[in-house]
Amino acid sequence: MEEKMKVTMEKIVNLCKTRGLIFPGSDIYGGMGNTWDYGPVGVELKNNIKRAWWKRFVQEEVNVYGVDAAILMNPRVWDASGHTQNFSDPKMDCKSCKQRFRADNLIEEHSKGKESAEAMTTEQMEEYINLNKVKCPHCGNFNWTPIRQFKLMFETSRGTLEGEKDVVYLRPETAQGEYVNFLNVQRSMRAKVPFAIAQIGKAFRNEITPGNFIFRTIEFEQMELQNFCREEKSFELYEAFKEKAKKFLLDLNFNPEHLRFHDHEKLAHYAKAACDIQFYSPLGWEELNGIHHRSTWDLSRHQEYSGKSMLYTDPVTNEKFIPNVIEYSIGADRLTLALLTEAYDEETLENGEIRVVMHFHPAIAPFKVAVLPLQKNLSEKAKHVYSILSKEFMCDYDEAGSIGKRYRREDEIGTPFCVTIDFDTLEDDTVTIRDRDSMQQIRLPISEIVTYISERVKFN
Ligand code: ATP
Repeated sequence: MEEKMKVTMEKIVNLCKTRGLIFPGSDIYGGMGNTWDYGPVGVELKNNIKRAWWKRFVQEEVNVYGVDAAILMNPRVWDASGHTQNFSDPKMDCKSCKQRFRADNLIEEHSKGKESAEAMTTEQMEEYINLNKVKCPHCGNFNWTPIRQFKLMFETSRGTLEGEKDVVYLRPETAQGEYVNFLNVQRSMRAKVPFAIAQIGKAFRNEITPGNFIFRTIEFEQMELQNFCREEKSFELYEAFKEKAKKFLLDLNFNPEHLRFHDHEKLAHYAKAACDIQFYSPLGWEELNGIHHRSTWDLSRHQEYSGKSMLYTDPVTNEKFIPNVIEYSIGADRLTLALLTEAYDEETLENGEIRVVMHFHPAIAPFKVAVLPLQKNLSEKAKHVYSILSKEFMCDYDEAGSIGKRYRREDEIGTPFCVTIDFDTLEDDTVTIRDRDSMQQIRLPISEIVTYISERVKFN
């Protein structure tokens, strides 16, 4: 699909900065490579996205249990998971222009996605790059250093006595917080297989090639769940999760043509199946989330390293087994970026002006409604209306500038409704309510606005 998008990354980055969604991290110090701070509008957007996800995958499911595990974990966890030994990226430097690249990315780009470097050894990657004379995407030369492994886990230390410090890691994924709590959750909640543990939390990766705004950062949030199931049911569940994950995105107003499944051909040694959902962005097709069949690998490894039995006993048959795991994981920041690019639109109005509008699903819109007094001397009444609405929804309040400019500003941050207070409001307690998408306006009594808006901002 080679549709030309109106949106570019530059437009999104500018809009995010000027409209209070996302700022460069440590901005007044010149920033800090690939860290970003969510501003007053952005924090609402991201929180709403996380809420919609939690509602869909935890609240609405009888057998999904949430946790919020510690970021710093016993270092043995990362031995068991394989991260201390294997969590690194294959790095190559171009000796001509000194740019650094991931060898697996070079291969995937060169083969236009036909080769998957994920399961290749370092030697196999070097062989591919040399045989195919893969050139540096930056300067076009073929002048590489050998591949070196670049460790992705951030290390820190604990301990107060000089010389007595232990290395601990900032977790590179949230998943281990669910695995180590498998027994705690199963017993305390009397959970029966199949059940899942869900978590939303921060993860940290010392990525070699971060970039593209919030697409790939060194600190990010993951929303994910680990399903524990019987082997016989595992593929059914895996397929069901592919569909559930896609439906969630479609329900958030993704254009179906901007989503596709990407099944992995080559798998990690323990995996039985793996699939990404990719989204079409200004960067091209990119991974948005992963669904992985991880067999009994994770629980078996924790059983081996912790010495604690991870056997589950079926309450009916008394059969004992280690459950299989189906993992579904999506980055909250990456999804935020995807939803920003999906929502962005430029419309030419009748008077020839361009209106920039974010068509967010109302449930994730940062503000559900903006209260706008037509003139400053109506602000007392407007603040009264604000006090009613703000008990129910996140509201914006703006009394500065022409009403047209105020509408444009709300369009740019995707506020689905604008309530205007005018002189008639003082007489009859009615207001004008304007719809972001159609720009149609209707008149409603103040007493009816909460119900009117509530019905239109739900996420089901
Ligand atoms: P990628 O191939 O893009 O590096 P991954 O396959 O390593 O991602 P997972 O470990 O499966 O990703 O993580 C699950 C999800 O977390 C990804 O689909 C993505 O949405 C998000 N994610 C992973 N790494 C980052 C990052 N550095 N910055 C932002 N989001 C990330």
